Amino acid sequence: MAIQSKIGIIGGGISGIAAAKQLSKHNPIVFEATDSIGGVWKHCSYKSTKLQTPRCDYEFSDFPWTQRDNKNFPSYQEILDYLYSYATYFDVLKFVKFNSKVIEIRFVGDFKNSSEYGSLLPGHPVWEVGVQTSQSETIQWYAFEFLVICTGKYGDIPAMPKFPQNKGPEIFQGKVVHTLDYCKLNEEESTQLLKDRKVVIFGYKKSAIDLAVECAEANQGPDGQPCTMVVRTLHWTVPHYSVWGLPFYMFYSTRASQFLHERPNQGFFRTLICHMLSPMRRTLSKMIESYLAWKLPLEKYGLKPEHPFEEDYASCQMAILPENFFSEADKGKIAIKRASNWWFCEGGVEFDDGTKLDADVVVLATGFDGKQKLKAILPDPFCSFLEFPSGIMPLYRGTINPMIPNMAFVGYIESVSNLHTAEIRCKWLSRLVDDLFELPSIEKMLDQTTKEMEIMRRTTRFYKRSCISTFSINHSDEICEEMGLRSWRKNNWIAEAFSPYNSQDYEEEK
Ligand SMILES: Cc1cc2nc3c(=O)[nH]c(=O)nc-3n(C[C@H](O)[C@H](O)[C@H](O)COP(=O)(O)OP(=O)(O)OC[C@H]3O[C@@H](n4cnc5c(N)ncnc54)[C@H](O)[C@@H]3O)c2cc1C
Repeated sequence: MAIQSKIGIIGGGISGIAAAKQLSKHNPIVFEATDSIGGVWKHCSYKSTKLQTPRCDYEFSDFPWTQRDNKNFPSYQEILDYLYSYATYFDVLKFVKFNSKVIEIRFVGDFKNSSEYGSLLPGHPVWEVGVQTSQSETIQWYAFEFLVICTGKYGDIPAMPKFPQNKGPEIFQGKVVHTLDYCKLNEEESTQLLKDRKVVIFGYKKSAIDLAVECAEANQGPDGQPCTMVVRTLHWTVPHYSVWGLPFYMFYSTRASQFLHERPNQGFFRTLICHMLSPMRRTLSKMIESYLAWKLPLEKYGLKPEHPFEEDYASCQMAILPENFFSEADKGKIAIKRASNWWFCEGGVEFDDGTKLDADVVVLATGFDGKQKLKAILPDPFCSFLEFPSGIMPLYRGTINPMIPNMAFVGYIESVSNLHTAEIRCKWLSRLVDDLFELPSIEKMLDQTTKEMEIMRRTTRFYKRSCISTFSINHSDEICEEMGLRSWRKNNWIAEAFSPYNSQDYEEEK
């Protein structure tokens, strides 16, 4: 017999906790597969993992960091402590069922009548959720009127590279680990894995870069081995949040700066203005590129990307470089190898340029397969709507898949601060559930998501990452308007134009 409740939330990371807080008056049930809240910050962090968003951006609107003006980036442990304080303060932990993994979702609503959205709480179950706990083999079923999926884009399932036959990890005599495995090691185990070993790291995103530095630190001294980073796609990395003495937010996070960028539903004249202003936009991107090329030895190490900086920014791929990355490279502790294709051999790895690298340990910093987590639990035909129509998940307001009734997704579109992106959408969701406004027709929602995808596609070659960082203020404006709140939230027009928008601007008016 299924246990019935109104709202179910799957996942207890930042998004799931934000959803539980905003929907708390409906006593939601939150299923969390592990024994802790925090998601990637708990299970996908190394000892050196830090936030790379400024602290005052990665903050719930009604719960400031105790030291919010501290310019240091908080460690993953500080983020977990902050999230625990938030969840405790707002008494959200009581909703969470730990060690409860959702393994199947069934649709029990009326599909024919779900072609138009009605109330999200229709008074009868629409979804059933099968949950496996660590205490029992038996699957417990729950029935909900509305489900919020917060299983995360990262963590849990590694994205593994494919290899030609007989050239995979099975023929390699050393050890192969994904960063997910590395995160599970304690400090001593991780040092032991890397120390005095020939380590090859595949990847050039934040987790690869941090790992290379940890590897270099474990191999100090004359006998220490250098680690090699194998880089396929280059991305811009930044040392800190200022450029030529100007704060970074001035370039992308104010209304004035986002005015230069295209946004959905912008009309003919705005499109024209954007077109006319595009040289200015490109100049700003070039200004940042020239600063980075001057500040960091990118040319020396062959790490200067060909594509403009703004494309990385528009796809949420800008990584903050650990302070000692290039000093370790200068000491010879980090080497860089550019390669597109590679495979394993007995003693290490081989590349398509004919060269070989000896290795004791190969670390795959190749990312995660967040969609697989969804595909594993969602039933057909809904599963096929996840990538409709062009490989990107269509999410109205970054939250509702127009083809999937009585379900919301939080944490699947990104911006500079994913916490803020998730929180404001959960506020919107809470009002939507309370019938304070209605969703447009499915056609209108699909039209809106298609327009957003087109903007992303025009802005960056990495558009499949669902990132709204170049039009995030406009996105929040539309969300506020739909909720019946003021969208321009500063006190005067100078602040409105030139100061950055962050979570605190969206604190509820009392
Ligand atoms: C190393 C790293 C650094 C990052 N740095 C930043 C940063 O500086 N700034 C930024 O804005 N973002 C950053 N991010 C992105 C980060 O993912 C988000 O900020 C945010 O923490 C995502 O939270 P989430 O709740 O959406 O997902 P997650 O943190 O992934 O949480 C998902 C939760 O769902 C649970 N779960 C999954 N499947 C099931 C299931 N079937 N049943 C029950 N529970 C399930 C998981 O156990 C997990 O607890 C970083 C990510 C990583 C991996």
